[in-house]
Amino acid sequence: MATLEFHGATSQVTGSCHLLRTARGNILLECGLFQGGDVNERQNRDPFPFAIEDIDVVVLSHAHIDHSGRLPLLVQRGYRGEVFTHRATAELCDIMLQDSAYIHEKDAEWINRRISRGNGPPVEPLYTRDDARAVQSLFELLDYQQRMEILPGVEICLYDAGHILGSAIVELTVAENGTSRRLVFSGDLGHKGAPILRDPHTLRSADLVLMESTYGDRLHRPWSSTWDELGKILTNARAARGNILIPAFAVGRTQELLYLLSKNYDAWGIGNWQIFLDSPMAIHATNIYQQNEDIFDKQAGILQQETGTLFNLDNLHLTDTTEQSMAINQISSGAIIIAGSGMCTGGRIRHHLRNNIERRQSHVVIVGFQAFGTTGRALVDGATRIRLMGREYDVRAQIHTIGGLSAHADQQGLIDWYSGFIDRPPVALVHGEPRAMDALSERLTSELHAEVIRGRKGHKIEL
Ligand SMILES: [Zn+2]
Repeated sequence: MATLEFHGATSQVTGSCHLLRTARGNILLECGLFQGGDVNERQNRDPFPFAIEDIDVVVLSHAHIDHSGRLPLLVQRGYRGEVFTHRATAELCDIMLQDSAYIHEKDAEWINRRISRGNGPPVEPLYTRDDARAVQSLFELLDYQQRMEILPGVEICLYDAGHILGSAIVELTVAENGTSRRLVFSGDLGHKGAPILRDPHTLRSADLVLMESTYGDRLHRPWSSTWDELGKILTNARAARGNILIPAFAVGRTQELLYLLSKNYDAWGIGNWQIFLDSPMAIHATNIYQQNEDIFDKQAGILQQETGTLFNLDNLHLTDTTEQSMAINQISSGAIIIAGSGMCTGGRIRHHLRNNIERRQSHVVIVGFQAFGTTGRALVDGATRIRLMGREYDVRAQIHTIGGLSAHADQQGLIDWYSGFIDRPPVALVHGEPRAMDALSERLTSELHAEVIRGRKGHKIEL
């Protein structure tokens, strides 16, 4: 009998890692990095809670680092098998795992410089860019709804999850002892109606559903009110004659923003601005998005076909080099600057904040989740002073928070997706804080009479 083991993202949203053991071989679902604070991140160096030689194949649902970020470590520690994933995910992993490895190399260098003064033993980076490159050679590429046998008697099929480009719902069908059992793993489910991407695919049949629960306790506001809000900020900011800074994640949110600016070019007066995409990683990710029009939603697909581009913006400047980025400092009015990092903890956005945060006519538009303890969170919470690169600055700019641009399904979205399963199979919840899991669990049992299992670390359940 096949069993599913939970090894990460059990009562939190990072470190996704699940293991399906079958008589035909063992399949690792995700190998994500633990993120958010020292206590979490220290777990990344721990031994894997299974023998690496036990893993026959790996399946990856999407490129986000909390799902893919420990793959270079798995390879460094000896894994040489295949990693099955959507082709766009493999393309995005190329930049995201390199970036992650680079950060780990730089962190180790910084620690070693401090240690060398105190003569402690040097630390190794968690993994290197070479390890990340080694992962790239193991990818086996799939399209959506393409069936493939990944082990004798074990078939995979990926369906569009609508979360980021290439994100997938994973269906695994295991034939053993004359019967066939089916596991459906939601991956991260997208937010229905989101720009560019299709809505999450509805599946009808499974023996066990493994489901994320990030926003299990929350409802998003309607898209239309989010667009209105963003439009108003842009229109009013123009009158103030300042710059607009938008800290944004390089993959996903940045492309959505560019798409929205392009789509609402006239209505929001976008022609009055110069737009700077000031992040080499975001520029790279944007190119990958443009090359995958066959998996866009209908509207975005038509736009790309008709105009040859997803972002029809004649005033968009891609500032790849440091010199190009520094030249933006000369502009005091009329620039929309999109840069990382998304929570203002690193990257070029900090330079732009330094230049603009003390000016009353500047605007900072927060469009993504801001974790506790980050500069972005301090701005959202109304801090009057912030620290940037070793110096304190007064916050005089206007800070706006747009809450509706989430890449995850909300509680209703999760309920709707599960409702697609005709026989109401048992559902195991992962990838959520306890409060979110409680609220979702309550609705799944009371309204849909589902058997709900809470994925607990180290536990196993039968498929
Ligand atoms: Zn994700």
